[in-house]
Amino acid sequence: MAFLADLFQFFFPRTCAVCGRRLTPAEGGLLCAACQLSFPYARPPYVPGSQLERRFWGKMPVVRAAALFRYHGGSDSAAPVLRLKYAHRPDLGYQMGRQLARQLLTTDFFSDIDVIVPVPLARVRQFVRGYNQSVAIARGLGDVAGLPVETRAVRRTVNNPSQTKYAAHRRAENVEGIFRVVRPRAVAGRHILLVDDVATTGATLASCGAELARQPGVRISVAVLGDAGGRR
Ligand SMILES: [Zn+2]
Repeated sequence: MAFLADLFQFFFPRTCAVCGRRLTPAEGGLLCAACQLSFPYARPPYVPGSQLERRFWGKMPVVRAAALFRYHGGSDSAAPVLRLKYAHRPDLGYQMGRQLARQLLTTDFFSDIDVIVPVPLARVRQFVRGYNQSVAIARGLGDVAGLPVETRAVRRTVNNPSQTKYAAHRRAENVEGIFRVVRPRAVAGRHILLVDDVATTGATLASCGAELARQPGVRISVAVLGDAGGRR
């Protein structure tokens, strides 16, 4: 089996999710040793009352919020997300979801969460991409935390406009009312962990969370890979 693993490595070498350099056998994670050192991991990923959490106050019944790293567009921290979304690497989302869950398991973050709900893509975008990166992250989180992932409770009717074209306040206006709960019984009365790849203003997550919270007894926590907002 070791031989087969070596052979697989030869044809499908593991590469660093930031710089793309081939990983050595000693580099067991997703990043090479050099990128790992400078990568802006959020330490710790969950801080009660963090700036990330406060972005959702007053918009949905948020309980907790966590991010694996600080996201800066155009920097090293953007590379894994770009690969995840545009280079057909859903495996990166899954692995980073697992990484985040392992860190959160050392806290009470998952304590009363019932179900994980990835923010859906509009059908056309998911068809074009072939997968929803948020589902990949959610599955990684769910496998490590031992929680179910519910992908069919909520639908997205339209996608956000491209993030490069609109200022933050424009985006916030454009995501209202784009989500619809289609399986209310799958979410009613639950504490939902809502998952997305990156939170910038948080408007997309808040729009989805507010729609879920129209069901009775719903509470929402948030987990993202990248926190692109202000200071924590
Ligand atoms: Zn690297």
